[in-house]
Amino acid sequence: DTLINQIAAGEVVERPASVVKELVENALDAGARRIDIDLEEGGVRLIRIRDDGGGIPATDLPLAVSRHATSKIASLDDLEGVATLGFRGEALPSIASVSRFALISRHDGSPHGAALEIDGGRVGDVSPRSHPQGTTVEVRDLFFNVPARRKFLKAERTELGHIEEWLRQLALARPDVELRVSHNGKASRRWKGEGDLLSEVRLHEALGEEFANHALRIDHAAAGLRLHGWIAQPVYNRASADQQYLYVNGRAVRDRSVAHAVKQAYADVLFHGRQPAYVLFLELDPRRVDVNVHPAKHEVRFRDARLIHDFVYRTLNDALAETRA
Ligand code: ADP
Ligand code: MG
Repeated sequence: DTLINQIAAGEVVERPASVVKELVENALDAGARRIDIDLEEGGVRLIRIRDDGGGIPATDLPLAVSRHATSKIASLDDLEGVATLGFRGEALPSIASVSRFALISRHDGSPHGAALEIDGGRVGDVSPRSHPQGTTVEVRDLFFNVPARRKFLKAERTELGHIEEWLRQLALARPDVELRVSHNGKASRRWKGEGDLLSEVRLHEALGEEFANHALRIDHAAAGLRLHGWIAQPVYNRASADQQYLYVNGRAVRDRSVAHAVKQAYADVLFHGRQPAYVLFLELDPRRVDVNVHPAKHEVRFRDARLIHDFVYRTLNDALAETRA
């Protein structure tokens, strides 16, 4: 039902960057190794995401765009240890209800592709369409039928900036996936697939030469926790918190307690008002963290927050102390 989907869209789809996030996460869930992201007018006019993942069988296209249809939860156990990025089955119907939408896909092993178009929530018929293995989702004229929402979209530059920032955050976590971005018909960014580990190259590309030159490699495990990534030496610090990237089990999150632990680790070497720069990955048993606190999953809740705070503080404080010794 279009109205219900539009209401859900209020939660899922805030702006073009949230559409990019949902669609790229779907592509990653489908096992994509390469994702092409074409944008026009900051994503407001067009967002087209093409992946080389497993694809969707033609007969499943209508299901993929219906509410609460997700192929990603097999049991309640899965809900506990969610390995996939999305699992609510809401993104596609929500986005399709507030745009001119097309889903085109060819499933692994099927000889032909197929397409399904939805115009502001009105679902068309599945028709044959040639497509390489994988999926393309096209979202045109976001909020064309919800003027009250469209009015709140910002200038092209601003919306593009939000998309680029989210992609940077992703590129740091997924160096194994190639990302190509174009804006208004011009190639604007290419993240080459660099292998499993975040390479210095990608770090350098994402955060700049200065960060890369001052980055300390961190990798420490204890008590079932592992913290790895890079922190900048204290001489490289920032007036704003713009280079603070934290990932929990591969997912970018904001967490006050961990952010506080990092700042504490720097407390005696960073003068007042300066901010540390870091890219840190915390890995732990998924049962020790609740990721379903926030619909967009930006926040997490740790079962043993105190222990994690102290582990992060100690690991980083030791690493920083070593550079001074
Ligand atoms: P969720 O990701 O929460 O399952 P979505 O609405 O984002 O819900 O997607 C619905 C379903 O459509 C997914 O469960 C998946 O089966 C299918 N799907 C969406 N995007 C892709 C894609 N890029 N490749 C393969 N399957 C996809
Ligand atoms: Mg999804």
